[in-house]
Amino acid sequence: METLLIKGCSLPELEAWVESIGERRFRARQIFKHVYGRRIAKWDECTDLGRMFRVQLDFGTRLNALSFQEKQESSDGTVKYRFGLQDGHSIETVLIPDPPRYTLCVSSQVGCALGCAFCLTATMGLKRNLNTAEIVDQVCQVQRDTEQRNHISNIVFMGMGEPLANYDAVLKAIGILTDPNGLAFSHRRITLSTAGLVPQMIKLGDQSPVNLAVSLHASSDAVRDSIMPVNRTYPLPVLMEACRRYPLAPRKRITFEYILIDRVNDSTEDARALVKLLDGIRAKVNLIPLNPRPQCALRRPSQERMLAFQEVLQKAHLTAMIRQSRGADISAACGQLAVPHDDSPSADAPAKGKTSRKTACMENCLSVPVDGQKRFGQKDD
Ligand code: SAH
Repeated sequence: METLLIKGCSLPELEAWVESIGERRFRARQIFKHVYGRRIAKWDECTDLGRMFRVQLDFGTRLNALSFQEKQESSDGTVKYRFGLQDGHSIETVLIPDPPRYTLCVSSQVGCALGCAFCLTATMGLKRNLNTAEIVDQVCQVQRDTEQRNHISNIVFMGMGEPLANYDAVLKAIGILTDPNGLAFSHRRITLSTAGLVPQMIKLGDQSPVNLAVSLHASSDAVRDSIMPVNRTYPLPVLMEACRRYPLAPRKRITFEYILIDRVNDSTEDARALVKLLDGIRAKVNLIPLNPRPQCALRRPSQERMLAFQEVLQKAHLTAMIRQSRGADISAACGQLAVPHDDSPSADAPAKGKTSRKTACMENCLSVPVDGQKRFGQKDD
């Protein structure tokens, strides 16, 4: 029998499975409560399930999809977790405290295929998609680790990877995260960030009420083409039309992320073009000062240039915040995360840290260099 990944199962799937092994349907709901409500570590803790059933669960299922590898805490409270996957890859998840909000930034892929010029993830390419259990377990493991102190209040799909390129697994994970019998997160507290995969974005609007963030980063096709190759497939007129038609609940807005890059996209003309672009869209803008990455000529603009850019937006009555980088002391800046891993992973041979890297980029501009050979926080070259 194939091992069932418990955290990758929706409730109806788990109901079908328990019935298939001769148990009653309601057992699935009990399992959900144990796994997500009580956050059990092993089936032995579920004394209301029969001993035989627990043995079946032990042998037929896998409770955890991730293994804890490392955790590091910044002086500003940001906590970065590294988790190992069954096949030897690693991913990172970051908890961003901003009381009373505790936002968890989750990864959706190992690496990324989109090749954005400013993001270190691009340098490793796409290794693979995460499965649903690996996405859900990021939330479970961090929640279990922090429950004595605080509760995760928000989830953002802004870690490693492009969530809409892993659509089915991400949507299914959102279903489990929001299941009232599961983790019971409100859709309002979940944000998915995309570089602009338009067909999947349109599908998302039809299928899920989660918040949408769009990584815009330029207000002309020429500039966007040069820093985000995805723009050649879905250029700005196509992307903005999809945003204009995006089904938004009353009072909801699309968040547009805009990394400010010195002399590339940060002039006041760029800001005026951005105002035009967002005309007619319920939008708010997050201005993210670029976190430079090694061996990349792109730089962060001066404070004056960033403020001048922001002022143009604000004068046009757009909500535009300049996001502060967090976790700098652990090099937790967006686009700078790097984790080495084995390039030919196997389930029996966990990664030892060799050649390639992975990157996570987060809502508050956090990302973290991680290197198995060096210590966290050291400069990556
Ligand atoms: N692929 C998705 C989600 C991951 S990136 C997306 O593109 O939206 C999350 C955010 O971090 C994106 O807005 C991304 O553009 C930003 N980011 C990436 N590298 C960065 C860097 N070097 N400095 C600042 N922000 C960066």
